[in-house]
Amino acid sequence: MRILISNDDGYFATGIAALAGALASEHEVTVCAPERDRSGASNSLTLDRPLSVRRAPSGFYYVNGTPTDCVHLAATGFLPEPPDMVVSGVNHGANMGDDTIYSGTVAAATEGYLLGVPAIAVSLASRNPQHFETAARVAAELIQRAAREPFRGAVLLNVNVPDLPYAELKGIKTTRLGRRHKSAPVIKDENPRGEPIWWIGPVGAAADAGEGTDFHAVAAGYVSVTPLSIDLTAHAQLDFVASWLPL
Ligand code: MN
Repeated sequence: MRILISNDDGYFATGIAALAGALASEHEVTVCAPERDRSGASNSLTLDRPLSVRRAPSGFYYVNGTPTDCVHLAATGFLPEPPDMVVSGVNHGANMGDDTIYSGTVAAATEGYLLGVPAIAVSLASRNPQHFETAARVAAELIQRAAREPFRGAVLLNVNVPDLPYAELKGIKTTRLGRRHKSAPVIKDENPRGEPIWWIGPVGAAADAGEGTDFHAVAAGYVSVTPLSIDLTAHAQLDFVASWLPL
């Protein structure tokens, strides 16, 4: 298959090299990723300036834009043909529960999905990720499966892999997104000129990590696979809001 790889950690990241390495022998792989770490970029497009694509000695293309920019430009004109699949990652850290809203890793996959291309986001669920080869191998197996049994229509899978040697994985589970507690407060500091500066605080701990969630599966040593949809409509509130409207 023709596979487009991107990420949000930058084209130089260990995770993207592991992913490209695991897929290159069986597939036609193109890597197009941000020139710097754009973790937390979500689904942002750069609309106020043009984008440049450059090629690193590794053969990877890098773009002065967001993960979404990378997939958008690669899949809508930069590549001679659109890819058969978009794979994003391997992210340096988990993307579970509410993380998916902020994640540039998930956003790169989402852009493929929105363009009609099946897409997989892969994250190594750890604060100090080590076993990138495990996550890359899991991604290769999922793609092998997709090549044998294609998805019916566009599919967006969010995959989180425990940071373990491959042999220690317990298996693979289909999950729903859990929920996190709200993130820690911003952290106030001072720059060298005595002016206040602010750091966004760390993410909150899992609030809904019950049976069936991505948090639960990964904590138990399973690969978590969550199919995502992009319809943000609160279907359960449609009737209430209709009756609440003043006219
Ligand atoms: Mn990242």
